[in-house]
Amino acid sequence: MIHGPCGSLSNNSLCMSDGKCTKMYPRDLLAKTITGNAGYPLYRRRSTEDGGKSITLKVLNNTIDVDNRWVVPYSPLLQKTYNAHINVECCN
Ligand SMILES: [Zn+2]
Repeated sequence: MIHGPCGSLSNNSLCMSDGKCTKMYPRDLLAKTITGNAGYPLYRRRSTEDGGKSITLKVLNNTIDVDNRWVVPYSPLLQKTYNAHINVECCN
């Protein structure tokens, strides 16, 4: 699942407020998964130089490059079971 486009790619996106994405995308690239300050994990997001993937998408008549900063955490099992987009994040 890919978030967006928002931010500089689309300021009119529903997730935008005061010029910022309320879902905090694009996320930072990280070499390791770590626990953030609010107990939510900051997932490993590899850069293309570190083996991460990047694709080109055509969205709203624009061609954009998307990398791991835009990936929404998900469970393929839940998506297939409920036929829906379900954001999954662990917290502790
Ligand atoms: Zn957004």
